[in-house]
Amino acid sequence: MTTGQDESSVRVALRIRPQLAREKIEGCHICTFVTPVEPQVILGKDKAFTYDYVFDMDSQQDAIYANCTEKLIEGCFEGYNATIFAYGQTGSGKTYTMGTGFDVNITDEEKGIIPRAVTHLFKGIEERKQTAIEQGRPVPEFKINAQFLELYNEEVLDLFDSTRDMEARKQKSHIRIHEDANGGIYTVGVTTRTVASEAEMLQCLKLGALCRTTASTQMNVQSSRSHAIFTIHLCQVRVCTTDNQGDETDNRLANGSSEMDEFETLTAKFHFVDLAGSERLKRTGATGDRAKEGISINCGLLALGNVISALGDRSKRTSHVPYRDSKLTRLLQDSLGGNSQTVMIACISPSDRDFMETLSTLKYANRAR
Ligand code: ADP
Ligand code: MG
Repeated sequence: MTTGQDESSVRVALRIRPQLAREKIEGCHICTFVTPVEPQVILGKDKAFTYDYVFDMDSQQDAIYANCTEKLIEGCFEGYNATIFAYGQTGSGKTYTMGTGFDVNITDEEKGIIPRAVTHLFKGIEERKQTAIEQGRPVPEFKINAQFLELYNEEVLDLFDSTRDMEARKQKSHIRIHEDANGGIYTVGVTTRTVASEAEMLQCLKLGALCRTTASTQMNVQSSRSHAIFTIHLCQVRVCTTDNQGDETDNRLANGSSEMDEFETLTAKFHFVDLAGSERLKRTGATGDRAKEGISINCGLLALGNVISALGDRSKRTSHVPYRDSKLTRLLQDSLGGNSQTVMIACISPSDRDFMETLSTLKYANRAR
């Protein structure tokens, strides 16, 4: 793994998955070459692209987590929103990287970003409580909620909704996306699970992932055609850390509080987005309804690309960022750009048969810089 330095609000990581057994058997050649020491990849002979991070075929899940996500969780404890999304063609490793699939047979090393983030979050909460106790300060309070949505054809589905029948669920679906006076985005009509432990959160993730599979089977579509958005809301009430900490010991009362204590409420949300496959229509040979789906999926991906590129462009950042062009960007609006932290993980296959799709992913990811 190699790293580049950049201070833009969107960081881009490239991940090349290993060749699958099938690709090896069928004699596919590797056409991606990572430049030593630099975060650069060369596709084919001479198509060079540089990102913030480049992870080659042998990179492990813990390295991706440590480099791309850990800091974002720490930011959430300070009240900063975050978004991490996986982009790439179907089969490039998005779900594997994100951990949205939630396969029970997976080893600890193979766990993706979401379960690792959940562990980190609950550990961070325990540590903060423990530190407060040791220092004789008021213990901070935390409340955690989770939501799990699927965006399909500009339609929002609730993966925590236990209604089994798809048609009934669609009719019932009256999810709305709104913006409050401070520019915060909130949804109406979405199941919100309050979660008290790591195990409970993982159970929610598992049920949602299962629901995603059943829903797509019932609708006779592949889940690769929808975006899955897992969101964690963190609300924290703690003693203000900003003012004169020097005098505090002298003012402490018997219960550990001090006359000087002032409390603050911090909220943050973290979106984990497993995007729809980015492959173009031509290759899948879609017609009719499928073609419509394709166009609509591309509408979300296209809008996301435009938003990301506007955020990366200093001259545009303050003027117009086209969040309203799709439900996807609208939903993520307050967690992309501004004070929030955004990481895009572009996932690609190393095999030559995927050359054109890989090139298109590398170009898409390049717009963010
Ligand atoms: P996508 O979600 O982009 O369609 P998947 O995450 O389902 O792709 O990955 C496709 C296949 O490749 C799966 O069988 C997955 O287990 C495997 N795979 C993807 N990335 C890796 C990796 N880094 N190491 C090992 N296997 C991987
Ligand atoms: Mg997938």
